[in-house]
Amino acid sequence: MKRRIKDIRLAYADGSGAVWDFPGIEPAFRTGNRFVRVDPDELIELPYGSVLFSLPKRHPVFYNPRNNDFNHIEVSPDGDEIAAVSAFPASAYLRTYLPAFIRRDDAPVLPLWAYTGVIVMDGGFRIPALRIDDDVRSDPALHENDAELEKGIATLTDAYPENGLVKQLEKCSTVYRCLCARNFFRGRFEAPIPTTPACNAACAGCLSFQKSDASFAASQDRLDFNPSVREISAVILHHLTTADNAVASFGQGCEGEPLLRARDLAAAISLVRETTDSGTINLNTNGSLPEGIKALIRAGLDSVRISLNSPTREYYDRYYRPLGYRFDDVLHSIDAALSAGIFVSINLFFLPGFTDMETEVEELVRFLQRFPVSMIQTRNLNIDPDFYFDRIGFRESEPIGVLNLVKLLKKEFPAMRLGYYNPPVKEKK
Ligand code: SF4
Repeated sequence: MKRRIKDIRLAYADGSGAVWDFPGIEPAFRTGNRFVRVDPDELIELPYGSVLFSLPKRHPVFYNPRNNDFNHIEVSPDGDEIAAVSAFPASAYLRTYLPAFIRRDDAPVLPLWAYTGVIVMDGGFRIPALRIDDDVRSDPALHENDAELEKGIATLTDAYPENGLVKQLEKCSTVYRCLCARNFFRGRFEAPIPTTPACNAACAGCLSFQKSDASFAASQDRLDFNPSVREISAVILHHLTTADNAVASFGQGCEGEPLLRARDLAAAISLVRETTDSGTINLNTNGSLPEGIKALIRAGLDSVRISLNSPTREYYDRYYRPLGYRFDDVLHSIDAALSAGIFVSINLFFLPGFTDMETEVEELVRFLQRFPVSMIQTRNLNIDPDFYFDRIGFRESEPIGVLNLVKLLKKEFPAMRLGYYNPPVKEKK
């Protein structure tokens, strides 16, 4: 049934952070630096495990049919000051619009989350998003059995009492509630293999390191030690020989750049492959060191995921702030991996109104024609959109819409997968 505009309501937060609907006001969304009207057909129910945020010193924007324009509202029907609200979707959902708000001059920069529009409809919350990957590995409902997790942690910490990496993953699975680390202890799906404290980039939205004078904190602490080759290979070997369709991935949110330890990681892969050919060994990386990638592939790496905020050099440089490498090195790494015939993914950070604007879409199509990768992992960029646009020197062009971009990629590159997770590329136990 086609939903009507009058069925949707603006959501706002009161001073306590409680979220309400504002009767008789038509909500709006944002894309780039523009406000747009909400299309009820582009909405989905707020996925289980998603979170709502009240956005400090930001007032919600609504569509005003009287002046056919967008205005903001600062007070509730009772006259109390209100704030805009954002959703943070559960994993595997790609958002298509940002929340619409007006910032006050004294508004703080927002912390690292993927801010998504949210409205109220039929007494429930709806968001502009689509499920882009059916894989259930990070579905919140699968990660609520802490008793099973504790059992898994006890078993593996007993089995590997001296392994510092197992201890790190215990912290990741409990303190940071990292779903990959929880899957390691549950013996399923993808296990994280963080190995490298250092990094050769300074991404504006780095999840594991932000300078002390930064506008917001990192989401988790950066790994503070270098696991040994033996510790690394033991964890990989355990996971690949116990989990079905197992994936073990270097390059996690709690570490720097794994290619800086390419020689050690190659040695660890070789040790594992001496014992088993099972499962997929994957590398998540910024792709800065092509020779490092080649060494890992020679050792037996099965797949690589290279992260990009943009296929456009200047936007890349302003976001990643490379230290000692260039955008061309990243392109050489993609080339090397494609030439070696392994599974190559681009981890493309999506931000509505930027990733789907005409100039970026044209650049992305050219990029994919030159680099026919196996998959794009369409990842929501976790960052304050205004901070990001300011940092990259955003030059806006006409947005085509994230949904249309997904359709275009499927049409123009039918052999390329779209998803959210590193797939097992070797499907046998
Ligand atoms: S490449 Fe990764 S670890 Fe390095 S700064 Fe960027 S996000 Fe952080």
